[in-house]
Amino acid sequence: MSGVDGRDARAASRFAGSKALARRINFELSVKRLFRLLAFDAFLALALTAAWCLVTEYQAGVAFSWTLRRGVTWTVCPNLIDTVGSAVYHFGDNSAAVGNFALVVAGALSLALALQLINWLNGCIFGAIPIRKHLKSIDAIASAANRLSRGGFDEGRFRSLQDAIDHLNAATPDAKLNIGDETLAGLENAVNNLIRRMHESYRQQIRFVDDASHELRTPIAVIQGYAGMLDRWGKNDEKILDEAISAIKTEAEHMKVLVEQLLFLARGDMGRQSFTPERLSLAEMLGEIHDESEMIDPKHEYRLSVPEDIVAEADPAMLKQSVRILVDNAAKYTPEGGIISLRLRRGQANEACVVVQDNGSGIAAADLEHIFERFYRSDKARNSSTGGSGLGLAIAKWIVERHGGWFSVVSREGAGTRITIHLPLKNGAAQ
Ligand code: ATP
Ligand code: MG
Repeated sequence: MSGVDGRDARAASRFAGSKALARRINFELSVKRLFRLLAFDAFLALALTAAWCLVTEYQAGVAFSWTLRRGVTWTVCPNLIDTVGSAVYHFGDNSAAVGNFALVVAGALSLALALQLINWLNGCIFGAIPIRKHLKSIDAIASAANRLSRGGFDEGRFRSLQDAIDHLNAATPDAKLNIGDETLAGLENAVNNLIRRMHESYRQQIRFVDDASHELRTPIAVIQGYAGMLDRWGKNDEKILDEAISAIKTEAEHMKVLVEQLLFLARGDMGRQSFTPERLSLAEMLGEIHDESEMIDPKHEYRLSVPEDIVAEADPAMLKQSVRILVDNAAKYTPEGGIISLRLRRGQANEACVVVQDNGSGIAAADLEHIFERFYRSDKARNSSTGGSGLGLAIAKWIVERHGGWFSVVSREGAGTRITIHLPLKNGAAQ
């Protein structure tokens, strides 16, 4: 079977499916409608009879009472009309002929019932058609969504779903699905939310790739520039040779770090980042980071405060990486001689708090809400000589959230920054 034949067959079977569904919905609705109709007619007959009885009793001057003796007698005649016509209503010591009234009511109700039944039969036979029309709208959405999920996500396919949806109600100003049927409001909302989220994630993906390419372009351009310079003049000039080699080494290192960061986030997004939590002494981990930071960076004063050890369930390499990212930032954005403190304390809830504090440049209020976004760097950081691509905190956030934790940040420009990792402790993990 060719691809086109297969699609036709699938479309035909889907159409047949929606036809059968429409018939079933119509059948169930018809049965309900019939019961409602009969119940309403019975109620009407009863209400009319009761009203007639009350009026007759009132006209005869009998005061209303629930306990009044009431009854109906009739004479059995050869035909039903004469039998009904002979009916007599007895109440207390009085009686009144009810036959004529009963015949008028029965006649009117029969006529109404006949008309209702014709209308009902019409609904039974043709009612599936409008239902099928509504289902067709849903079919259009379903098939567009199917097409979308079969292949990779691209703008063209996204538009086809949106077209299918816009087509349902072209007058909708914000291009949202609007079938105009209250019973389908839930489905409508679900589809609209799905589209919004897909579009948002698609935009984020595009922006991420765009930013990554941009970040990679700069070191590549620098390396190319120096290679060209070496080619033209530098082969015999030792000064140019040294400068070029050092610049190429720096940019290559920057590229390596960037590619590693990108790989980390890509693996994380795909759920392929390995995560092996174990019981970890946070005091020990913080001590190690403190000692190595002191060794690598003699330009700052590192302080450690660990009043008690806390044992958490965590992936040691990953958690260490996230604290290192904070320490690396503290060192980068704090002038020489500044103080960087590492603290471990117990939080208010059942949580461990790892605090990294500096007395450096601080973060402006406008930047604060963005610092965990991928590739975000404040203008000040961008313009300074400190390298970086703005992925550090995004990675740290991914790691901390993977541990079920969260960040809190307190910062004031010119005064410094305090970033805290809040790590929930599972029962028994705390010591
Ligand atoms: P990368 O970490 O990828 O090398 P980066 O340090 O610029 O680059 P992040 O670690 O994600 O990126 O930090 C994002 C931004 O947050 C920084 O550019 C800086 O503007 C601000 N920031 C983070 N930590 C501090 C800090 N301790 N003091 C001042 N600003 C900070
Ligand atoms: Mg950083």
